[in-house]
Amino acid sequence: MEFKGFQKTSLIEYPDKVVSVVFTGGCNFKCPFCQNPDLVFNPESLPSISTDEVISHLVSKRKWLDGLAISGGEPMIHQALFGFIGKIKEEGFLVGIETNGSNPEMLKDLITDKLIDYVALDIKAPLAWERYKVAAGIDDEDLFRRVKESIEILLKPDSGVDYEFRTTAVPGLVKEEDILEIARQIKRAKRYVLQQFLPSITLDKQYEQLKPYSKEMLEKMRKKAGDYVEICQVRG
Ligand code: SF4
Repeated sequence: MEFKGFQKTSLIEYPDKVVSVVFTGGCNFKCPFCQNPDLVFNPESLPSISTDEVISHLVSKRKWLDGLAISGGEPMIHQALFGFIGKIKEEGFLVGIETNGSNPEMLKDLITDKLIDYVALDIKAPLAWERYKVAAGIDDEDLFRRVKESIEILLKPDSGVDYEFRTTAVPGLVKEEDILEIARQIKRAKRYVLQQFLPSITLDKQYEQLKPYSKEMLEKMRKKAGDYVEICQVRG
C-alpha cells in the first residue's frame, strides 16, 4: 500500500496517545470545504511513501510512539488497508482510523478482526439526505445510507471499539441548531468533537473566504450538544 502523506509525530490524532499519521490518496466524497483537494482528487501528483518506510519509522521510534493514525482522503476505499494494518498490529502498535463512514462492511470487519483500536468518524451535517448531499458533495443516496450504518455500528454498546464522532463547524453549512440536531441523532455517543474550520485551501474556493465561528460560539455549541453525549469537546 502507498501513502500520500506522512506526519511522523502527532499528539492530536489519537486521544492521549502519541502517534504517527499516514494519509491515503483519493476519496469518494467531495466536501466543498475539504482542505486536501490535491490529496483527494490529484493524489498521483504527490510523492508516495511505502508501507516499509512507515513500518521502519514506527519500529525505530517504538519508545516514543504508541501507534499509527490512518487518515486521508478516505482510507476505507483501499482494500489493501487490511494487509497494511495487519502488519502494524503484528508490531504491537495501536491503530486509529479516520473515515467518512462510507464503508460499513470494512469497518465491521476491521473491528471483528481486532485490527483497529480507535475510529474517528466524520459527520458532515444532520443525518438527512437533503443536508448531507450538500455538505459531503455526493449525489449517491446509498453512500449516505452507508454512513448511517457505520454510525449505528459504533453506537452499539458492544461495538468492540473506542470511537469519536466529529463535525467540522463550517459556517453556512453547519449552524448551531445543526450541531444540536446531530448530537440528538447520536444520543449517548461516547465522544463528539466539534472541529474548528480553518479556511486555507478548500475544494470549493468560496469556502476560503469564510470567517470561522468564534471560540465563544463553538463553546456555546459544545455546552448544548454536551447534554446529549458523554463527552463533547472543541478541537482546533
Ligand atoms: S473532507 Fe470530504 S472530500 Fe475531503 S477527504 Fe474528507 S470526506 Fe473526502
